[in-house]
Parts: sequence; structure tokens; C-alpha cells
Amino acid sequence: MRVMAQVAMVMNLDKCIGCHTCSVTCKQAWTNRAGTEYVWFNNVETRPGQGYPRQYEDQERWRGGWKLDGRGRLRLRAGGRLQKLLTIFHSPVQPTLHDYYEPWTYDYEKLINAPLGDDFPVARPKSLITGKDTKVTWSANWDDNLGGGPEAAELDPIIAKLRAESEAQIKFSYEQTFMFYLPRICEHCLNPSCMASCPSGAIYKRSEDGIVLVDQDRCRGWRQCVTGCPYKKIYFNHRSGKAEKCTFCYPRIEVGQPTVCAETCVGRLRYIGLVLYDADRVTEAASVENDTDLYEAQLDLMLDPQDPEVIRQARAAGITDGWLDAARRSPVYALAKKYRIALPLHPEYRTMPMVWYVPPLSPIVDLLTEQGHDGEAAGTLFGAIDALRIPLEYLAELFTAGDTDKVAHVLRTLAAMRSYMRDINLGREPDASIPASVG
Ligand code: SF4
Ligand code: SF4
Repeated sequence: MRVMAQVAMVMNLDKCIGCHTCSVTCKQAWTNRAGTEYVWFNNVETRPGQGYPRQYEDQERWRGGWKLDGRGRLRLRAGGRLQKLLTIFHSPVQPTLHDYYEPWTYDYEKLINAPLGDDFPVARPKSLITGKDTKVTWSANWDDNLGGGPEAAELDPIIAKLRAESEAQIKFSYEQTFMFYLPRICEHCLNPSCMASCPSGAIYKRSEDGIVLVDQDRCRGWRQCVTGCPYKKIYFNHRSGKAEKCTFCYPRIEVGQPTVCAETCVGRLRYIGLVLYDADRVTEAASVENDTDLYEAQLDLMLDPQDPEVIRQARAAGITDGWLDAARRSPVYALAKKYRIALPLHPEYRTMPMVWYVPPLSPIVDLLTEQGHDGEAAGTLFGAIDALRIPLEYLAELFTAGDTDKVAHVLRTLAAMRSYMRDINLGREPDASIPASVG
């Protein structure tokens, strides 16, 4: 066992209101320089939708010269040194500026001083259907404006796949529309493919806290990391010619402060914590055969910070008592491993992402329409898990590589917790065996 420490985050999606405060404060802090106009280290996507950059989840589109080998490691498609050089010089497959969005500067002067007019805008936005020759309209979080109706659903690759597989089960109409917000930052993966794909060795994972950073002096601007990151969370600065990415606000973490996005989050939905993991087993965990086993494999890597042997090994590895104390109090460990209500985003990418999500617990459609009841009581949810407004299949595609049972387990736990807390608020005596807070 080789114990290492990792800072990680859990986001509770039910609490996100899509205000984008996190994105704006992050941008003000980190990407308000020339060359980073289009860059959002933190972005908030509306789901269903295409995300940012557009269709980043379509892995076949972006993988380019890279492939995952049988053990989940990123490898160049062609073997041999000559081929490697050719692949490096060959322009990597990347999102274009249009896939991110074209930045503009808002002219507030005109907004304030524009004369009153009679005209009311009636034109519909241009078609968003992608195609090589189609000129499309696009901007950051465009899906927010579409509201998740059939038009948006058609654009989402996951939805399109689900529709193809089970048209009968998933019917889309405006009556059955659903949406939720998905904030995203770099995952600070345990098995970072950006690092594996960098020909210059410029990307590194800090041993003390697992934060993944780009050494600006070593970066040569190959941009293979942009291709190699399946979450598309590393960006090319066109002015400096270097790659840049979310730093997990390491200068703040080092002095005991939370990340900017967490500190300014209006919904208070971001939980930062330290987890201990077994670095010797990362490759093995990333290599499990079935995609649906990756969530469990990732959880298995997390070590119990109360275990005396783990503590002994952690001390031997140079982890300080302060860090061990942080690991013991970690909400990430509690929510992901102890209570199992937080899930990783796209574990099938096999990079072992370290940003976890409590999935949204949407109302049960039938109960909502027939009784005006939100249907979140534990008893009702046990019987009607398939009738949730957000299809289980959709959440499973995002968080468990398609395993609906695992998502259902989380949602049932959440429903039970809500039901219990509601009873407490109505005056029931708390159950002494249930802790009042996580950790
Ligand atoms: Fe690298 Fe992408 Fe993982 Fe971030 S999310 S550590 S950029 S592979
Ligand atoms: Fe969601 Fe918080 Fe960001 Fe607002 S600040 S969009 S609530 S994550």
C-alpha cells in the first residue's frame, strides 16, 4: 500500500441554481488575461445539453491519435517512434473556438443609452444541428435557453443514444421535459490522461495533494493534452502558446482557504475534502474489464482515514498529522465512500476523476401531476423509481457508466434522508443512531 493524499470535491446537484457565480468569480481570479477569453476553468452546463465545449462527451470525435489500451491507459494509436513523432506533429483533434464559444465584450454603454424602439425581437435562433457545413449559433451554456425540450434533447449525444436504444421508455415532449445544472471543473484525476498525453512532460500531479498542474516553463504547446483529456478541461492559451487548466486554487488551498468557486457558490453545494488513496492500485483499478465496475473500483482506492494501518503508512509516506486530521473530517470521504451518495462523472473514461456529484433527486412525475405532491418520501420512491422526472438512464449514463441500479440506490438513500429530516422538522425525535452531520 502506498498512501497518497488527494484534495477532492463533492457537488450536490439538487442545490445548484445555475447562477454561474462560480464561473464568473473563477474567471475573474484565473482567466481574465489575453489568450484566455474563451476559457472557463469552471463552467455550469444545463442538462440535457451538449456541454462546454460542445459535445465533449463524444469521445470518438476527440480521441484523434489516442486510444485506451486494454488496461485503461492512454496510448498513441500507432506504435513505434516514427509513428509517435508523426502523431505529435499531426495536428491533434481539438475543439475549435466555435465549439467553446466566441467571446465578445458587452457594450454596456449602448445598453444603457440605446433609444427606445418599437421593435420586439421575434427571430428564432439559427439551427443548432451540427454538421460539417452547417453554420451554427452557439455560446457558452446555450442549452440553458433551450429549456431541455425535444430540440435540446436531439442535440445531446447521450439522449440520442438512449432514444435509439429505448424509444418506448423515454418519451420527450415539453410536458415531460427535465433539466438540471451540472457545474464542472478539472477532475484532478488519479490517472490523468492529460499528463499521460503530454510529450514534454510538462503536466504533473502534486504529491502532497494530487492537484494536477501545467509547468508553464516546460509546456511546448503541443496541445496533445487538450485531445487527451476526455473532460476537455485543459485549454490552450493562444497568446502565450501554453496549456492552462484549473489549479484547484492551490495558492488558496495552501493557506487553508477553499477554492474560489466553492467560497462564492450561492447554493453552498460544493464540499471540499482530503481523501487518502492507495497509489499502488490506481492502474489496476483503471484497468477493470467492465465500465460498470469502475465506480466501485474508484471507491475501493479510497482508504479509511481511521484505520491504524492506513495512518501508519500515511505517516511513513510523509503525510502530516494536519493532513490526516483533514482526511478524517473529509466530507468527500463521507459522502462518496461512507454514505455512498456521491458519484463520479463518467467513470468509464478511466481517469479516476476526483470531483464527485450527488445526483439530483427529481420529483416523481405521476405523483406531481396527480397529487401535487413531490413524491420524495422514501416509501413512494421505493415503488416509483422508474417514474422520476429525470430518467434514471440519463443519470446512469453520466455517473455510473449506464448502471441504473447504482443510481437508484443513491436516489433511494437521498429520498430516505429527506423524508427523515422532514419528520424531524415536524417534531419527530431524532434517531440517536443517525449522526446529525456528515463526517
Ligand atoms: Fe487532466 Fe482532464 Fe483529468 Fe483534469 S480532468 S486531471 S485536465 S485528464
Ligand atoms: Fe451552481 Fe453554485 Fe455555481 Fe451558482 S455558484 S451556478 S449555485 S455551483
